[in-house]
Amino acid sequence: MEQLINITTNLSDTKITISSAEVEKIIPIFQEGQFFSKGVKIAKFFYKKRENNEKEEENNIRKPIYIQSPIFGYIKKINIEEKSIVLSPCLHEVFYGNLCAKCGYKRTEEEIKKSENYKIYSSLSNDLTFDKNSAKKMEEKVINRYLNKKKLILLLDLDNTILHACGYHLNKEDYNYLKEKYKENISEIGIRNKYDKQRYDKIIIKFRVHLKEFFSSLENKYEIFTYTHGAQEYASSIIQYINNYIYPNSLSTERLISREVNNGIIKNKTIKKVFPTKENMVVIIDDRSDVWKENKENLINVHGYFFFFDEYMNNIKAPFLNYDYDNVLFVILNLLNYIHGEFYDFYERNKLKKSVCIIIKEKLFSVFNNEKFYYLQDEKIAECDKIYLRNNIKIQIKKLGGELIENNEEINKGENSDLIKNINILLIDRNDKDDKVIQLFKKNEKKILFCNYINICFMFYYKIDYDEFEVNDEKEIIKFIDLVSIFNKHKERIIEFYKSKLDKKKEKEKEIENKN
Ligand SMILES: [Mg+2]
Repeated sequence: MEQLINITTNLSDTKITISSAEVEKIIPIFQEGQFFSKGVKIAKFFYKKRENNEKEEENNIRKPIYIQSPIFGYIKKINIEEKSIVLSPCLHEVFYGNLCAKCGYKRTEEEIKKSENYKIYSSLSNDLTFDKNSAKKMEEKVINRYLNKKKLILLLDLDNTILHACGYHLNKEDYNYLKEKYKENISEIGIRNKYDKQRYDKIIIKFRVHLKEFFSSLENKYEIFTYTHGAQEYASSIIQYINNYIYPNSLSTERLISREVNNGIIKNKTIKKVFPTKENMVVIIDDRSDVWKENKENLINVHGYFFFFDEYMNNIKAPFLNYDYDNVLFVILNLLNYIHGEFYDFYERNKLKKSVCIIIKEKLFSVFNNEKFYYLQDEKIAECDKIYLRNNIKIQIKKLGGELIENNEEINKGENSDLIKNINILLIDRNDKDDKVIQLFKKNEKKILFCNYINICFMFYYKIDYDEFEVNDEKEIIKFIDLVSIFNKHKERIIEFYKSKLDKKKEKEKEIENKN
């Protein structure tokens, strides 16, 4: 019998041709572009009607003959005339668990070990993984969509970044007092219990001041993803509340990476969960820097927000008011607007993406702009606290572009040293005017400030005036820092500091327009 079905393969494609002239035509079961597994029936054909054999037709005994696919792949081309089908192999780019999401191929243990799979954040499933190429392709599409919309991506933490949640039960009177005072910025939210779906656990949430402004100002500039270590139910309830009562459509449960999506891992967060291969358009806002080991450069580490203090819970009418109006979100939204403006200013002029990491770094560096600090620590502080405090200050100074000079023996003995010439500021945490080091810096006419100056600069990402922090003979130590008045005093200057080139350009255009 003559060979009916011919299969020819080149490197990538497989062509199946029906060679018999007796065959009527080829009828595809799958359409062009459709994927299937190996062995699946992909097309059928009939023999031509034999003349004078109406009986055959009547009895419907002309049975179809099926063509089974010799590969995992898809139909590239169907040629009815030529009675041929060209198949292309599936590249297995997307996996659902261990099955290829396109053709159903099941990976072997060996292949699983070798594979390098990327997850793209998808609300559809946490089991979906991609190979590097298709992850890149998919991201490219998403990124282009953002570029067209002139948006950047923001990964936003919830707890202690934009809110403080507290599991305490408040009595009605206290709650009403807070509600009256803070309106939609405080709420008792019911979270569905994970194990008993009928039960709702109540949690009190206090949102950070300026949250509404934060969302409205960034609405057209950032696609915001919520990235939290909190549980899915908890985060979804908060997102819902924010959308309903604070600002509409600011967050979405479809763009939520919760503890469950993060596979229960609570010590590590990574941009890879959302954008596995592109990081230059992603900004992170989080109060914890230790969880972002891989993406420190994308991170804007905000001062943690703690509204409820245990000691105040018995007397809710005296919460730490100063903390309530810490104004951190106002500064952050200005900084985020700046990053967006600089990114798109550069992009418009050069058609190139300047990484947000560089934009953040350059701007924050310009706060202290190479200023050099020396830190004299109180002898009475415990050794372990000393190390912690020193480290903390060192990191904050460095992030804002300054430098903390290492302890120097000569200086510590109160002896003049060449090093002093290069130091701008002495930081102290206790005022002892007889101290040798303090005297030495005074003699050299250097500024002497209480060290919490650094924390406040770091909180506002701005070099605030020395006034309140300057040491004089009377001041012992600053016990109370009035953040609100410091903020109000600097507000306009902070806004000016965070104006991007794009903002300035727009302002000029407006001015000209008004003149005309
Ligand atoms: Mg947090």
